[in-house]
Amino acid sequence: MTESPDNLHDLWVEASEAVARRVAAGERPGVKDLLMPLMLQVASSPCLKGDSAGFWDDGPARLWLPRFVFQRTQVMKHRFKLGIFAGIHGDEPAGILGLMDFVRELDDHPDLGREFLIHLYPLCNPSGYLAGTRESSSGKDLNREFWRNSPEPAVQLMEAEIQRRNFDGIIALHSDDTCGGFYGFARDRLISEQMLAPALAAAGHILPCDPGPVIDGFHSVNSIIHSAYDGILCASPTQRPQPFEVILESPQTAPLDLQRRAFVNALRAILQSYRSFMAYGADL
Ligand SMILES: [Zn+2]
Repeated sequence: MTESPDNLHDLWVEASEAVARRVAAGERPGVKDLLMPLMLQVASSPCLKGDSAGFWDDGPARLWLPRFVFQRTQVMKHRFKLGIFAGIHGDEPAGILGLMDFVRELDDHPDLGREFLIHLYPLCNPSGYLAGTRESSSGKDLNREFWRNSPEPAVQLMEAEIQRRNFDGIIALHSDDTCGGFYGFARDRLISEQMLAPALAAAGHILPCDPGPVIDGFHSVNSIIHSAYDGILCASPTQRPQPFEVILESPQTAPLDLQRRAFVNALRAILQSYRSFMAYGADL
């Protein structure tokens, strides 16, 4: 029997809640179980495709970098190209689940994804995720390995994707167990004002934002930091023009479902404000 789209939608909700319950209980569902909501969505939505950006051997395990692509219609036209990355730290599942929820949101509210081509990488550190560790199985923090000839297969694959896609915007989702609320990072002041501030305001409807003057060791104003460690996931140093870059950080000790909802709100706000920002720019 083939499933109708409605049935698949219900199955998506069931799969999504089942995996979230297991994660909230401290379990680590296998990669296929974890990504089941996205697999079901690929099966039911003409807008979403899924494959792998590459495979590698990790001891006896064969790992892969899951890649999903959302495009609302097949009409040929200019689109803003976004890359959204989650799970770079293996012990931060909220971003992975929040990103899957957001992809559902894109399907349920087609206007949201209008004018975007979105590449989604929900599980960027599969060995760390499976072990429940921040680092990959080799002990490396992948978010310190970018653009420095890293031997890490996942980093090499992500760098290749970033170079090939020439994203207009790169967004990374993280969680922090030391912060006092949701916060964000943007190197660029204009991006902070135009996109990150509305994203944090939207997340703030679900979870309070961190009011502190120092977050993660960096000076912070209005829950935004402008400095970051070297080697974080970002655009290639040679890309011109440089894309906008935003990192969203959820408070890891908050209930998982609230972190998921805060991520969805923040991502929705970034798409909306980027579209207005570009429309405004075109009128100048
Ligand atoms: Zn992180």
